[in-house]
Amino acid sequence: MIPAAKPSIGAEEREAVDRVMRSGMLAQGPEVAAFEEEFSALVGGRHSIALNSGTSALHLSILALGIGEGDEVIVPSFSFAATANSVQIAGATAVFADIEPDYFSLDPNSAGAAITPRTKAIMPVHLYGHPANMIELQKIADKHGLLMLEDAAQAVAASINGKPVGTFSQAASFSFYPTKNMTSGEGGMVCTPDAEVARKTRLLRNQGMEKRYANEIFGFNNRMTDLHAAIGREQLKKLHAWTSKRQRNAAFLSANIRGVITPPTAPWASHVFHQYTIRVVGQDRDRFAEELAKRGVGSGVYYPTPIHRLPSFGLDLELPMTEQAAAQALSIPVYPSLTDGELETIVEAVNSVAKAGA
Ligand SMILES: *Cc1c(COP(=O)(O)O)cnc(C)c1O
Repeated sequence: MIPAAKPSIGAEEREAVDRVMRSGMLAQGPEVAAFEEEFSALVGGRHSIALNSGTSALHLSILALGIGEGDEVIVPSFSFAATANSVQIAGATAVFADIEPDYFSLDPNSAGAAITPRTKAIMPVHLYGHPANMIELQKIADKHGLLMLEDAAQAVAASINGKPVGTFSQAASFSFYPTKNMTSGEGGMVCTPDAEVARKTRLLRNQGMEKRYANEIFGFNNRMTDLHAAIGREQLKKLHAWTSKRQRNAAFLSANIRGVITPPTAPWASHVFHQYTIRVVGQDRDRFAEELAKRGVGSGVYYPTPIHRLPSFGLDLELPMTEQAAAQALSIPVYPSLTDGELETIVEAVNSVAKAGA
């Protein structure tokens, strides 16, 4: 069985963990500081603050921006629940807008229509590694005086007109969960151009203190450990080669797959293919996935239920493109360690299931 996702962990990561173990200093320390500095190079030198998860990155950056009680943040409903959960946990309200039909990301028109006097920010998601349309969304934010955030959990190293994601907002959040394009085991990063937001995020990460026992505000323990940072630093060195391999794998799949809709890339975007997500039309997506599994190909449904309809939100909204994507989207393997033979197996399996169902 070809799994749907597979992290690449090498001897370098194992040795890096061992190095930290032998140092005897396991919690946040020099490895985290070095990881932050090295990651900053990916986002045009912006401040980078490492955290224990991507969810913590979203949560703390929302708090650091002063968004909370009584504020609304516009988010897509077609995403991982953490996108909207982080808004709610910060005390604000997630307001759901629809996605556009091509790239699975926030529709600027729908986002614009969701603005109310309470709207404080727009937080698009660069879903599956394809950047959201930040140019159009920024125009709307400027017109209404709103903050921009980015949920860049799935899109490390993606770009818009050559400018990296994570540089289109007051605060961007990345995730290093094992299935993401690079991992630290668990982990996340906030990137911001604003020194004060960076400082506030650092305070929130560590009990509200910069100087020991001089707590300035209420804070959490959302620190990354040096063990995790050491893994992340090694992964960072390999990221560019992995991204190229993901893009080559995606190009091969798109050139050879028939009978389903393959994922397009906008002319202004560089897509890093966190997921390679097809749309199954004219037949049942879940049956399609079962048939792929019978042919040895794993796949993933991200996300079967739009966030607004999860029991935690329980909202009845009309978001037709979101509903359509939730019914059609199927992610097939695209990760860098796929062999040529496995890529051919994937193509043959998809084409035969598509043909049988047509
Ligand atoms: C993975 C992910 C998150 C959360 O990151 P964690 O590191 O798992 O906490 C948030 N948003 C999106 C879109 C994600 O894919």
